[in-house]
Amino acid sequence: MLATTIHAPGDIRFEEVPDPVLSRPTDAVVKVVAGCVCGSDLWPYRGENPVRAGATIGHECIGVVEEVGAEVRDFKPGDFVIVPFCHCDNTCAACRGGVQSACDNLGFTTSGQGEYALVNQADGSLVAVEGGAPDPALHAALLTLSDVMPTGWHAAVSARVREGGTAVVVGDGAVGLCGVLAASVMGAETIVAMSRHEPRQEVARAFGATHVVATRGREGAAEVRDILDGVGADAVLECVGTDDAMGTAIAVARPGAMVGFVGVPHGIELPVRRMFERNVGVQGGMAPVRRYLPELLQLVQDGRIDPGRVFDLTLPMADVAEAYRAMDERRAIKVMLSSPS
Ligand SMILES: [Zn+2]
Repeated sequence: MLATTIHAPGDIRFEEVPDPVLSRPTDAVVKVVAGCVCGSDLWPYRGENPVRAGATIGHECIGVVEEVGAEVRDFKPGDFVIVPFCHCDNTCAACRGGVQSACDNLGFTTSGQGEYALVNQADGSLVAVEGGAPDPALHAALLTLSDVMPTGWHAAVSARVREGGTAVVVGDGAVGLCGVLAASVMGAETIVAMSRHEPRQEVARAFGATHVVATRGREGAAEVRDILDGVGADAVLECVGTDDAMGTAIAVARPGAMVGFVGVPHGIELPVRRMFERNVGVQGGMAPVRRYLPELLQLVQDGRIDPGRVFDLTLPMADVAEAYRAMDERRAIKVMLSSPS
């Protein structure tokens, strides 16, 4: 099949690789209809994560079941499915506890920017879109459900966003924007989005942000606290993963607040002393996508949310190298890739 591979930082190719094969009876192969580039794909692209030369890359996709293993009961070829980036059995203790992203049988999508993706634990992981192939106009929204929207949702759940409360979202990437949307659906009355980029500010407002703060660091934190009566937010969503972002998140949390963090941490050192003094907690991690998927799918199908707005560029999958460049250079918020076949 054709799939996206990374050979070195900045070196993305769309090339022939071996087809995925069912290796366990619980596996399924999905023919990708649409994939996309994740903010976390930029870590290896920028050389901030190690690169295994020639490895396939891409963990977000939707598609049609092509083939299933002997023990897969709930899916059959032809089903249109959302593929969570992390695969789970949905039956072990971690899964039953709502942390499917720490499943005993955890797996990951590794060729979501290719023609086919292998899914481990198909029954536990996949969620079908009922009624056959959906309207292509829905593809963008459905595609966000494989990672970015449930991750933003997880930030809001972890931060304990509540009806009538206040929330701050640190990070204006697609996850942060989805966090704004999540906080809005959960009924937060004041939602402050921290964003310096005009197109992202626009999406944040459309998703429910009541305020936008464009400054960063200490100055930005002070501006946010001013908006929130000088106290800080009830709930803070940290959607970046850097030490600066976490520092800002903790600085804008009111005493007793929780910071929900979903950015893959890179070099974060928690200010435990300040957290102690202010009774600020940090909760979150890799999103248990499967846990939230049915609820989020319903919200999309009911027309209550349109997270597909985070995609501001769509390219044929063969142009994936340009997709990475556009995101790396911040010319695009998030790029959707349409399958070649
Ligand atoms: Zn499990």
